[in-house]
Amino acid sequence: MPPAEVTDLLEPVVRLARELIAIKSVNPCFPDGNGEGDLAQFIYDFARKKGLDVSLQPVSPGRSNVLIRRDGNGKETILLEGHMDTVTAEGMTIDPFDPLLDDDRLYGRGACDAKGCLAAMLQSVADKKGQQGPDVLLAAVVDEENGFSGVQALVASGIKADFAVVGEPTQLAVVIAHKGVVRGFVKTRGISAHTSQPEEGINAIQRMARLLLVLDRYDKELRMKSHSLVGSATLTVSFIQGGRGLNLVPDECTVGLDRRTLPSEDPMLAWEELRRFLKSQPEFVEGEGLLEEPVLVNRGMEIAADSLPVQRLMAAIRSLGFSSEPIGVPYTTDAGELVRGGIASVVFGPGNIQQAHKADEWISVQQLRQAKAIFDRLIAGGE
Ligand SMILES: [Zn+2]
Repeated sequence: MPPAEVTDLLEPVVRLARELIAIKSVNPCFPDGNGEGDLAQFIYDFARKKGLDVSLQPVSPGRSNVLIRRDGNGKETILLEGHMDTVTAEGMTIDPFDPLLDDDRLYGRGACDAKGCLAAMLQSVADKKGQQGPDVLLAAVVDEENGFSGVQALVASGIKADFAVVGEPTQLAVVIAHKGVVRGFVKTRGISAHTSQPEEGINAIQRMARLLLVLDRYDKELRMKSHSLVGSATLTVSFIQGGRGLNLVPDECTVGLDRRTLPSEDPMLAWEELRRFLKSQPEFVEGEGLLEEPVLVNRGMEIAADSLPVQRLMAAIRSLGFSSEPIGVPYTTDAGELVRGGIASVVFGPGNIQQAHKADEWISVQQLRQAKAIFDRLIAGGE
């Protein structure tokens, strides 16, 4: 970080975004994952210093959501939700935790996904403390990049809100629909033998090769059905492992599957449908196939284009002279869990998803400023 006299010249939302990026919070599912603890403490302290009501919501050992309240008129509650974790910083071509500001770009791991948006939300709530408007609950949550345990804990706590805005890089478009996902593994089995006498064994990799063609057909069929905003469901073979050595007939082969679901689909039912389909296929049965229980599930979501969060957010955007149309996106977010928990939600934020998870991740500073202005307008209420 440059010296304080330089950063002091930056406007607060840009300065805060830099501070959030500089605190490493890689999801523990990655080899360099340190978790969200340090960042949660910083956000907690930031809110305390601003005189906001703040508490920690434990999710798992060392990992807590941070909940910040801005009391308003008591008639309506807006939930602003953003995640604190990032993907790995390994392999980045820029310094991931020493955020560089270059013209309109602010670089660093998490700049775009999603610390820029979190900074805009935080700065807005801090600036609007004590002012008129709806009650605001800002939830900075853990674990969006892996298991969604942060938002699940938030929903399980019985949180109430009239609507929610989930902060992800949408280039300030209002996302009203996204896909869900279910991931897991399928196995074929065989019998190990010395490769000098392969006929003594059964080759699990060759069995899997036949099954892969079946899975490919399944994917093609899924793609026939399309949703107007998010596109089609898909099944991607995303991982393969098999064999114990070059001179052994492999007795097991494992493939990882990533099934993207339409907003209306229950991912668990989609997985069971896949299981039923596989059981009806000779390649699966003869390969002694096994479809394991999913390792990750996240629901898609869709809300009406004229529902409350869309109306409010669009009004805030338009009142500042910006244009925006409701869109759908193919990736999943915490909004799936919130909608399932009964809270109408949209996804919205500065930055382009194209820059998320990238080796030179950055966010447009102009969009960061615009997002802050839009949040200011949204939580001022009475549009
Ligand atoms: Zn994200």
